[in-house]
Amino acid sequence: MTLHIDHDICLKEPNCPAALSCSTQALFYDPSDEKLFFNADRCNGCGLCVQKCAYRALSLFETTADLKAYLKKINEVRNDFQTKLEALLRLK
Ligand code: SF4
Repeated sequence: MTLHIDHDICLKEPNCPAALSCSTQALFYDPSDEKLFFNADRCNGCGLCVQKCAYRALSLFETTADLKAYLKKINEVRNDFQTKLEALLRLK
């Protein structure tokens, strides 16, 4: 399993409920970097962290290929949105 942490969305709270819910410490807050980290070797794929994150900053994937496909799709959607927004702003 692999976990994607969207650091743009994550509030980077030391007492993150998602990290605190992780029984294996695969997901943890690192005070020196002031953000969450994920250790795939420790993850059992329970999905509890994803359920606990109120901001939907976490996404769990079976394989890194699944994660890469997800990130590619996200980038395509963001680029499409930006292109449409820029075209719309040029009309004004
Ligand atoms: S899926 Fe379960 S074991 Fe893996 S990081 Fe999330 S809470 Fe921890």
